[in-house]
Amino acid sequence: MATLRCPLIAGNWKMNLDHLQSIAFVQKLGWALKDAKYVESNVEVALFPPFTDLRSVQTLINADSLPFAFGAQDLSMFDDGAHTGDISGLFLKALECSYVIVGHSERRADHSEDDAIVAAKSRAAIRHSLVPIVCVGETAEDLETHGAAKIPVEQLTKVLEALDAKDNYVVAYEPVWAIGSGQAATPDQANDVAAALRETIAQVHGSERAEATRILYGGSVKAANIASLMKRPDVDGALVGGASLDVSEFSSIIQFPKHVTLDS
Ligand code: PEP
Repeated sequence: MATLRCPLIAGNWKMNLDHLQSIAFVQKLGWALKDAKYVESNVEVALFPPFTDLRSVQTLINADSLPFAFGAQDLSMFDDGAHTGDISGLFLKALECSYVIVGHSERRADHSEDDAIVAAKSRAAIRHSLVPIVCVGETAEDLETHGAAKIPVEQLTKVLEALDAKDNYVVAYEPVWAIGSGQAATPDQANDVAAALRETIAQVHGSERAEATRILYGGSVKAANIASLMKRPDVDGALVGGASLDVSEFSSIIQFPKHVTLDS
């Protein structure tokens, strides 16, 4: 883990927890981290509830001064107008979202989002001063045919070409075969692809942008494997799905610096 890049642990709740459940969850997470004397300057935590929870989560975080950033799981590529069911980045910014996930493999699969759409959504995020977390990753079939890095590098290149070197973005490497499967990439696999993605950023946006950009790993991250992932130099954090819905597991993931040992 590079010292210049503050680690980011992001919890993607997917389509789980309604707005009442979200309030209970965020309160419990706040208490758990307070009890554990979590220091927010060491690790940044960001929560990604469903759209319908965002106002509740925002209100609670502000009222209790909780040390969490938050964002949405998707946004429209458009800013306003006749796009029934879509949510504008303008609205997310008005709710004080800092981040927005774009190009998650479940959006790519369920909503046929291709690289052009992911690029347009990333641009929309930047237009509204939201930091896009750009998800890339290969399927099991891609892995078999092309190896791990080729498809994620191609996906990221298309997005980077639509952005500018001065734009602030985060990249999440999420092998599709690892998401929700219980089978995470090994730390070395995750680091190799993260290093290839950083090299791609360097080629398109220059080495300064590459060094400053956080690259997360996502796919079956748990308290038991986070420390070994975070020890790798190009892995700057995690995008956590299932384990982010369990207060004790997620709070343990956030506190990974306490369980990074020399042998992990
Ligand atoms: C995800 O959906 O982004 C994810 C990484 O899920 P999980 O942690 O459950 O594999």
